[in-house]
Amino acid sequence: MKTSLCKKIKCSFLGLLLISVMFIQGCDRPPRRGVSIVMENAFDKQNIIPLVIIGSGAAGLSAAIYGVWGNVKTLVVHGPLPGGLLTQTSLVENWPGSRSILGQDIIKNLQDQSTNLGKKFLKNKVSAIEFLQDTITSADLSQWPFALETSGGETIHALSLIVATGATPKMLGVPGEQEFWKMGVTTCAVCDGPFYKDKNVVVIGGGDSAVEEAIQLARHAKNITVLVRKESMKAAPSMQAHLSEYPSIKVIYSVDVQRIIGDESGVTGVEIKDAKTKEVTTLPVSGVFLAIGHTPNSDLVRKYVQTDADGYIVLKGRNQETSVHGVFSAGDVEDRVYRQAGVASGHGIQAALDAVAFLTSIGFNNDVAAKLGESLYRVKGEGTVQVLESIDEFVTQVEQYKGLAVIECMMHECPSCIMLEPVIQRAAQHVTEGIRYFRVDTNVAPDLAEKLFVYQVPSILVYRDGTLVARYNGAMNDAEFAVFMEKFSSVTGAALPAA
Ligand code: NDP
Repeated sequence: MKTSLCKKIKCSFLGLLLISVMFIQGCDRPPRRGVSIVMENAFDKQNIIPLVIIGSGAAGLSAAIYGVWGNVKTLVVHGPLPGGLLTQTSLVENWPGSRSILGQDIIKNLQDQSTNLGKKFLKNKVSAIEFLQDTITSADLSQWPFALETSGGETIHALSLIVATGATPKMLGVPGEQEFWKMGVTTCAVCDGPFYKDKNVVVIGGGDSAVEEAIQLARHAKNITVLVRKESMKAAPSMQAHLSEYPSIKVIYSVDVQRIIGDESGVTGVEIKDAKTKEVTTLPVSGVFLAIGHTPNSDLVRKYVQTDADGYIVLKGRNQETSVHGVFSAGDVEDRVYRQAGVASGHGIQAALDAVAFLTSIGFNNDVAAKLGESLYRVKGEGTVQVLESIDEFVTQVEQYKGLAVIECMMHECPSCIMLEPVIQRAAQHVTEGIRYFRVDTNVAPDLAEKLFVYQVPSILVYRDGTLVARYNGAMNDAEFAVFMEKFSSVTGAALPAA
């Protein structure tokens, strides 16, 4: 009797423990999927890739190196922010092996290394690695091979998958934030800092990113005020120490941002409330740089893969496998603790090693790879977007052209530009006649940018028979760009990209 009561108590205690663990871990707990994995199923499919990596940041590209190294044909899908968040930082001083290196150079080095290995492991003149400048819009992980839809309308079948989709900067959710987005409100000092020359700006947040943004802005802005909601900063002491080297940077503690104020020209100020005195004041500023953390980009797979309460992908243990067999994850989308490029890279390596081991365990080998042969997916060739580097080129190619000319004005460091680039690239592939696409890098051709009155990137300019007929500031997705271009088609009869 006593024993059975004890057992009951133990049982209810264990039940309660299980429920509380589930509660702590969050409600997004899809049942563990037992996907049927039979190699023969792959032979009926088209567009097969043994290893697909979604995301091209430090985690995704490190995984790519090890995918190729493991002699597995690998496809990296760039996603909406090619290169990931490292492309938004400036100098990185804690990337192992480099005293100081630009975030973009880390990404470039990783991509170069995987590309070189891909050529080395070349089979039948096809590189062992390919990069797709597109995004995955939906993933069906209930079937194997896993089915992935691209925004370009293709279906790719993956024998194994690494989700390295990173995390997206958080927003404050205060009035004025959306209204003045990209009209003074931004999350990227590297991209937008030069537009705030000799102006006053605020950085919101108390972490390492806030410190980095403030230091980046000190190169351009007149005064930078960092607004911290607590009495101290969360940033590492070594990072905070850098702030005192910049007389133009000051920090205000214990303040909440209530509202972002502006007019048709953009942001003119921020309304802040002192958490102790409750006094509300307005700081006159032209720029608001948000640096308040990130949200994991797990929406694509959340229906199938277990995530925690904040959306971070839950891993099985010391390896990188998710709750779906054959699906792995690496980087900021699964790491809520360390969130460092070096850690993401290490996790990417682990994920690729795990994926290669998984493929071996299901019978994938050189014979199977050869049998898949013609069913393997190949990235289609790139269309033509011509680069304009001088005013002379603009005059001959655009002003003297009878037809529609679309100019994408961009900078390599700007994330919105990186998002827009593949959209324009795809549009150029679809077009046959009557329309030309051009790209102007405002860093490479500042004189031309000035002639075109481009003071913000990305910007899209449309010329008809040499005359400017439209200007759009900001990024667009494929559907938005197709709608934007629709109004010009009736005039020229030009073939436009499908919405
Ligand atoms: P963190 O999550 O570390 O910091 C976010 C900051 O924003 C915190 O100070 C937080 O305040 C504040 N915050 C959050 N929400 C609000 C809000 N609604 N209003 C006002 N303030 C808010 O994010 P980071 O992006 O700074 O850093 C992420 C990770 O990346 C960290 O691990 C960091 O170390 C790393 N990193 C490393 C760098 C480097 O080593 N060079 C550079 C940049 C980032 P509170 O403190 O009150 O929670």
